[in-house]
Amino acid sequence: MKRQPTIGLEIHAELKTQTKMFCDSLNDPEEKHPNANVCPVCAGHPGTLPTINKAAVESVLKVGMALKGDIPQFSKFDRKNYFYPDLPKGYQISQYDLPLIFGGVLNGVRLRRIHLEEDTGRLIHSEDGKSSFVDYNRAGVPLMELVTEPDITTADQAVEFAKELQLILRYLGVSDADMEKGQMRVEANVSVSADNVLGTKVEVKNINSFKAVHDAIEFEIKRQEEVLSSGGKIVQETRGWDDAKHKTVSQRIKEEAHDYRYFPEPDLPPLDLSKFDLAAIKVAVPELPKEKRLRFGKEYALKPEQAEVACRDRAVAEYFEEAASELKSEDARADFQLLYNYLTSDLFGLMAETGAAIGDIKIDPENFADLVILASGGKISSRTAKDILRKMLETGMDPNDIVKRENLGQISDESALEQTVASILEKHSAAVADFKKGKESALQFLIGKAMAELKGKGNPKLLQEMFIRKIS
Ligand SMILES: [Zn+2]
Repeated sequence: MKRQPTIGLEIHAELKTQTKMFCDSLNDPEEKHPNANVCPVCAGHPGTLPTINKAAVESVLKVGMALKGDIPQFSKFDRKNYFYPDLPKGYQISQYDLPLIFGGVLNGVRLRRIHLEEDTGRLIHSEDGKSSFVDYNRAGVPLMELVTEPDITTADQAVEFAKELQLILRYLGVSDADMEKGQMRVEANVSVSADNVLGTKVEVKNINSFKAVHDAIEFEIKRQEEVLSSGGKIVQETRGWDDAKHKTVSQRIKEEAHDYRYFPEPDLPPLDLSKFDLAAIKVAVPELPKEKRLRFGKEYALKPEQAEVACRDRAVAEYFEEAASELKSEDARADFQLLYNYLTSDLFGLMAETGAAIGDIKIDPENFADLVILASGGKISSRTAKDILRKMLETGMDPNDIVKRENLGQISDESALEQTVASILEKHSAAVADFKKGKESALQFLIGKAMAELKGKGNPKLLQEMFIRKIS
């Protein structure tokens, strides 16, 4: 019997709007004070009326366009009825049969739909387990839900999909999509088919990191295969991922749509999407990560894994490009590889010490490019470049000014090195003899002595050439 896992994803993302989905309470995920951003509308008081947040609808349309989905002319909101203490209205306004987006594709996985709904509040349980508190700051925050077709077959593929979606949401500026903060939440529908007959679907929830996406799906595939191998049947149910115990646990037998008694939201008019400025939204869709990576590979000769790193953050990619354009406009050799290395190893390393983001640092891309030009032209040693970079980060100074002020320039002029080379040769005749006998390390010894005399400012390549020439 041939068994094949089938995985579909349902991904929720909180949208980064000013206000909530159906009222003008602030949408502020950083608000620490419980119930600070609540009004009678999002608290579900009788007699209040919701109004649709246009920016939230536009955000989802933007995502739909980026993912090549279809925008229907009409869409509407529906009530999904259920009781839970984090849901103050006793129902959630969501979308049932007419979502904002139909279809689309990402990483070769077909999308079924993308719709818009409101988030729930949060329950906070006391440590002694005797009482619970409810915080409605999150209740009514715009929440996008993307549902894929069951086209995914491995846990790794599911993780790649979720990571790419996160990056796209960030590129589009519609969500920070931080999984650890609950801004992006992944649910996986996992089933195992036997001889191409679709298996029973199990929904896995409580997945709070990319690692958990991977581990929960792997576990669930293995569990279902074991049940089927031993002649058992898979129960259609919702299971939760327990990160500590590293397994999925049954939560409830899966409810059907009719359990929620969906009906059209009577307090909101249907949406005529042709009245939205779709052309303007389309223009606001930036170059997406996939295209950017390909272009970086071609334009700057970056290897695929380097292009991936450079494009992992839109702001970093833009910084790289601005610096690269300086390299192009200078007569200096356009050394994109060196730029990439200084950016992703040296600058990222220094930024990691303080936790700064690229948008916070004092070094502008022009000055960063100047540093690369100084290094690639042999005006400063690579050791000096690292020191200068640290000073640039602290002061925001132009590297050329730092070199001048601190007299850090590398000596690449042969006549200026002549005297030092001669005196080292004279002082260390034993090493000279060793090198003549073929001992390579003797050459490094001589260069090291010369560098010490020059306080590290000699051009090591030039010194090497000079020593070899003088000795032979
Ligand atoms: Zn409100």
